[in-house]
Amino acid sequence: MLFYGAPMLRRQFLISSIAASAATTTPEAILFNGVIYAAPEGAHFRKVQAVAIAGGRILAAGENREIQALATAATRRFDLGGKAVVPGFIDSHSHVASSGLRHLREVDCDLRSIPLIVQSIRERSLKTRKGDWIIGFKYDDTKTAEQRKLNRADLDAAAPGNPVLIVHRGGHTAFANSAALQQMDINEKTPDPPGGAMVRDAQGRLTGELLETAVRRPASMNRAATASERREGVALITKMMAKSGITSVTDAAGGGSGRADELSPYQDAHDNGELCCRVYCHFNYRYVDPLIAVGVRTGFGNEWIRVGAMKLIADGSISERTARLSEPYEGRPNDYGIIVMPESELYEHARKAHLAGWQIGTHANGEVGIEMALNVYERLQREHQARDPRFRLEHCTVVNDTLLRRIKALNAVPTPFWSYVYYHGEKMSQYGTERLNRMFAMRSFLDHGIRVAPGSDYVPGPFEPMMALQSCVTRTDIKGVTWGPKQKITVAEAMRAVTMNGPYATYEEKLKGTLEPGKLADLVVLGRDPFTAEPSTLASIPVERTMTGGRWVYES
Ligand SMILES: [Zn+2]
Repeated sequence: MLFYGAPMLRRQFLISSIAASAATTTPEAILFNGVIYAAPEGAHFRKVQAVAIAGGRILAAGENREIQALATAATRRFDLGGKAVVPGFIDSHSHVASSGLRHLREVDCDLRSIPLIVQSIRERSLKTRKGDWIIGFKYDDTKTAEQRKLNRADLDAAAPGNPVLIVHRGGHTAFANSAALQQMDINEKTPDPPGGAMVRDAQGRLTGELLETAVRRPASMNRAATASERREGVALITKMMAKSGITSVTDAAGGGSGRADELSPYQDAHDNGELCCRVYCHFNYRYVDPLIAVGVRTGFGNEWIRVGAMKLIADGSISERTARLSEPYEGRPNDYGIIVMPESELYEHARKAHLAGWQIGTHANGEVGIEMALNVYERLQREHQARDPRFRLEHCTVVNDTLLRRIKALNAVPTPFWSYVYYHGEKMSQYGTERLNRMFAMRSFLDHGIRVAPGSDYVPGPFEPMMALQSCVTRTDIKGVTWGPKQKITVAEAMRAVTMNGPYATYEEKLKGTLEPGKLADLVVLGRDPFTAEPSTLASIPVERTMTGGRWVYES
C-alpha cells in the first residue's frame, strides 16, 4: 500500500506504510473488494483491491485488509463487489458548453430514418410558436435507412408553420425547409456565395441542402441563450458525459461559434453544484487578446475549470471530407480538401499567444494542415524557445513518417478522434485503404513515443469512451468492416492513452490520470472487466458509477 505524501516508488505501491502515515489523515471513504486498475505498469496495469479517499483525493491504494484497517467509524465504505475500476476517462477534444446548449434547445436528429426525424420535428413544432425557428442537430445522411438526404419537402411537411434548419453532424452542411430559405433570403435565382453552394435538383430547383458559407443565420434565428440556459446546458451535457465515465474534458472552443465568455457557464454550473466533469477550456484566437491584456494564460483556474490553449484552425473536417490532404480524395481526382487559414496568418496569431505563455491548439486534420501547424510551431520554438510548450495538434488525423518524426521532435500532443472508425465507418472509403492505415494513427503515435491524447470532438463524434476503446482496439465499424488495421492498439494501450495522456495534454499529469495516492479521486466502476472482455464487446460494457473528486456524480 502507498499513502499520499509518501514517495511513490514503484515497488512500494503495495507495501504497507500504515504506521508512518495513518496519523496524518483518516479516509472519508474507502472502496474495497474491486479489481482496480490503478496505474500503468510495463505493458499492462498495476492492480489493487481497494482505495482510501480523503479530501477528494486518493489517500492510499492497496489490499482490502490494509485499506479496511484505515477506516474509522466515520468512514463511508463501499463494496465494489469484484467489479473493475479504472481511472476516470479524459476526453481531450470536445465541444462541451455548445453541445449542452444544443441538447437543451434543439432537436436531436441522431435517428435512423427520415420519418423518425420528421416526427421529432413535428413534435417540436407543436411546442414552438408559429414562425419561430426549429433547429435540428446530429443529423447524418449516411445513417438513415432511406440512404438519401433530407430535402425541403420532408421538412415542409414536418413543420409548415416554422422555418426549419437541420444541421449535419459534422457542422458544415445544413438542410432548410421553404420557410427557412425565405428567411435566409435564398431563392431559385440566388447565386452560390464564395466558399459555399446551394444544392439543386435535376430541374434546377433548390433541394434545401446548403453547403458551408451558404448556410446563413438570420437575426431571427439567433436568439441569444440566457445565462441560465447556458448553465443548464453545461449541467446537462456534463451529466451525460459523466454517465459515460468521462471525468475530465477539454472544451476545444468553436470556430465561428466560439465565444469570448466561454468560462461563465462552467463557473455558474460549478457554483450551482451541477458541474459533473472537470473542464479545460480552449479559447478561440479571436477572444484571446483581452485575456492576454489582463495577464491570464493557459493553466489559470482550479481543478474543476481551467483556461486551456488558444485555438486555431488550419484545414477542413474529416467527417465531411474537407480535410486538406496531400493526395486527392478517392474518386475525386481534383479534390484535396480546403485550407481554412493560411500559414502566415496562423503564425501571427500563434506567435502572440506563444509569447504570452499560452499553449496553442491548432485544428489540423490532413497532412497539409498538420504540416502547416508544425511549420508554425517549429518556427516559434526557433525564434522564441519555450521550455515546455506542449503544442497541441487538434485531431491530427492523417499522418506520415516525416510528420510523425517532427511531432515527436517537438513533443507535440495529437488529439485524434477516438470513436470515428467505429461510428463513421461509411465515410472511410472516401479516404482509401492505404491512407486509412495512416489515419487516427494510435499505433504510429505510440510507436514513435508520442503522448497521444484522443478525444471525441462531440458533436461530430460520439463521446462514449467504451465505444472509443473498441474503435481504437478493433479498428472495426458498427457493421463489422475493419478500416486501417495497422493502427490497432491493445486495450491497455488504449486505456493508458485515454487516462494518462489526457492530463499531459493539459499540464495536469501530477493531478490525475492514475489512481495513485495524491491523485484526484476520479474513477469509473464498470459492469465488466475491459481487460478480459472480447474486444468486439467493449462498447457494450456498462458504466455503473462515476466518481469525480471523491463524489459519485453518476450511479446507475
Ligand atoms: Zn473540434
